Amino acid sequence: MCPRGARLLAGHGGLLEPARLVCHCLLVEGADGMVLIDTGFGSGDVAERRRLGAAFNAIVRPVLRAQETAAARIRALGFQGGDVRHIVTTHLDLDHAGGLADFPEAEVHVMADELHAARHPSLRERERYVAAQWAHDPRWAEHRAGGGEQWFGFQGVRILPGSGAEILLIPLAGHTRGHTGVAVRRGEGWLLHCGDAYFHHGQVQTPPSCPPGLAAFQALTAVDNARRRENVERLRELAARHGEEIELVCSHDPATLEEHP
Ligand SMILES: [Zn+2]
Repeated sequence: MCPRGARLLAGHGGLLEPARLVCHCLLVEGADGMVLIDTGFGSGDVAERRRLGAAFNAIVRPVLRAQETAAARIRALGFQGGDVRHIVTTHLDLDHAGGLADFPEAEVHVMADELHAARHPSLRERERYVAAQWAHDPRWAEHRAGGGEQWFGFQGVRILPGSGAEILLIPLAGHTRGHTGVAVRRGEGWLLHCGDAYFHHGQVQTPPSCPPGLAAFQALTAVDNARRRENVERLRELAARHGEEIELVCSHDPATLEEHP
């Protein structure tokens, strides 16, 4: 995504120069097939850019290349779309749910609050959810926060217990009503995909930092900004205390994607 305003959004470059934001998805190989975490934009968005909305296209300026969709990237790795048995969504914003229809057989894991928000958006939420992206009626698996297990001070919800992959949802509401992080066990440590809980790696460093335009954008788009800020602070503390064991990635920071290709 290439919104204008690199200096304010990325902290470098010209005022009107386009910034570069990515959609960082993860592919996890489990014992019984693959798990895709977030789907970015999909082939349906490439075919029909209009469905994303005129305002989104004009301001966010997504590039929408067929070869950059998750499905195309998975095929380039030598797998088939059908190998993806489960999809875990951090939330259902249009830049995260676009690829769902490229994997029509997959079970789609989502927080119940998020699915409810997407199906019954408030006036303010209407622009962010694109119902056409899940018009194929995926097999939803809804999960609820609370009653789960402790994970480094967070309440986690364990999913896919039979898959051999250790995956927990780590609810991080604020950006949207049912936004969640996704923790994946990797060797002795963990990888935590934080979705849109934060946008810039500096936000979870100590002391924290964020380009001003990106900070304003996050505040403006949050459904509950106090809760969002509280969760960024919790993630910063997590990174400070457990940075050796837990690696944090977020959806849109290009620097993080380059570090974790
Ligand atoms: Zn996003």
